[in-house]
Amino acid sequence: MIVMKFGGTSIKDASAMKQAYKAIVNQSKPSLIVLSACSGITNMLVSLPDLLLSDKNKAQEFLDNIYAHHTKLIEELLSLKNFPAFETTFLELRDFCEGIAILGEYSDSNFAKLVSFGEWFSTIIFDEFCRQMGKNSILIDSSKFIKTNDNFLAAKYLVSETKAEGQKLAQMLNQYDLIIAQGFIGSNQLGKITLLGRGGSDFSAAIFGEMIKASEIQIYTDVDGIMSTDPRVVPNALQLHKLSFPQVRRLSFFGAKVIHPDTLLPAMEANIPVKILNTFNQSNPGTTIVAEYSDEIEIQSLVLKRDCLINYTKETLTNTIIEKSRILYSSESDGQRIVIFENMPDLRNLLEGEVEETDIIAICGNNVNKSTGLLRVMHTLLTHIAGIEIFTGFSRHAIFFTCHKDYSEKLLLMLHSGLFETKRPD
Ligand code: ADP
Ligand code: ASP
Ligand code: MG
Repeated sequence: MIVMKFGGTSIKDASAMKQAYKAIVNQSKPSLIVLSACSGITNMLVSLPDLLLSDKNKAQEFLDNIYAHHTKLIEELLSLKNFPAFETTFLELRDFCEGIAILGEYSDSNFAKLVSFGEWFSTIIFDEFCRQMGKNSILIDSSKFIKTNDNFLAAKYLVSETKAEGQKLAQMLNQYDLIIAQGFIGSNQLGKITLLGRGGSDFSAAIFGEMIKASEIQIYTDVDGIMSTDPRVVPNALQLHKLSFPQVRRLSFFGAKVIHPDTLLPAMEANIPVKILNTFNQSNPGTTIVAEYSDEIEIQSLVLKRDCLINYTKETLTNTIIEKSRILYSSESDGQRIVIFENMPDLRNLLEGEVEETDIIAICGNNVNKSTGLLRVMHTLLTHIAGIEIFTGFSRHAIFFTCHKDYSEKLLLMLHSGLFETKRPD
């Protein structure tokens, strides 16, 4: 049994969904398929609750766009003018939105429920397509299987409660060719919908993988695998063919969007190999992530994380700050604390002391602090760019530095060129 997850761009329209289907039929094993919402839909849904309270016309425009996107998909993929399962679900979304507008407020729980519709729309349509193509597929409600705590917007899954449901899924896979499941969603103990955080469908795939004891988890996306840096910023980025779980955790920790940071925990726990593959270039072998670990000195990847907050303070961090944020780095000396946060809404207002905005660039690999090549390249670059502070994170496996947003892309390009495009440093 395997798990295959397709991200938003991999199912963005009818032609992408056909590509995803092609990858699925090329597998001989029973598969559990996890889908994100179609590209762009979650962003619109995320904006809706506030718009319903502040700008009803804009909210209506977003609802119309969401409706139009999926009806076009249905027409092109299913050759239907009207697909009742979608119409009913869309009506449910519309009624839910009306409820929020009438009430004039919304809770985190309502927000999570509203945003979860994106994954429902894509899975309802894709499940129907698979059946139309002759597959014996079944659509499940992921929230009934993935149990989480009450943190509605970035929920943590409850391992034992969730694992207990695995048996049911494994049995279903004996009866059906395919199980189609929504990514990104779970539910708390009371059955209320929770979200696993933005990009959380990768995490769903790994949780399902652990539940059904999959032999492999395949994450399909829009690039050939994990690269030496984000290919959207550095077109010359190189593909990395094999990485270990801890190496990839470091990249995602610092914000490499290609995989959600929590994804690998369940896979590591169950020792299931994870592959990152390209939906639109299926002959490429992608990147395989495995347990074996090499400790050779090697620089593997650069991550640019934008819009972080650096806080110089003497105060202890409150629980609210810890809950509301993700800390990328923290150190203390003589009562003075330096904390670097991923930026989150409202965080800045909660912080005491001096706060600055900064981008960070992380250099990840094995024993990067021993790489003389890196020191050489950094030395040359740093003499040209001012205002940089260097930190070491994740011990010897990542070094990162802060950099003003006006220079960060340029610096990333220069670093990449110095480290990867000329002869590789030691
Ligand atoms: P999906 O919708 O499939 O989940 P995402 O947009 O979340 O896709 O992640 C894929 C994107 O991650 C790529 O298009 C690429 O721009 C970005 N990315 C950032 N860092 C890397 C990296 N090191 N390797 C590959 N892709 C990266
Ligand atoms: N649709 C969700 C998001 O855009 C989850 C995901 O794509 O993984 O964040
Ligand atoms: Mg993603």
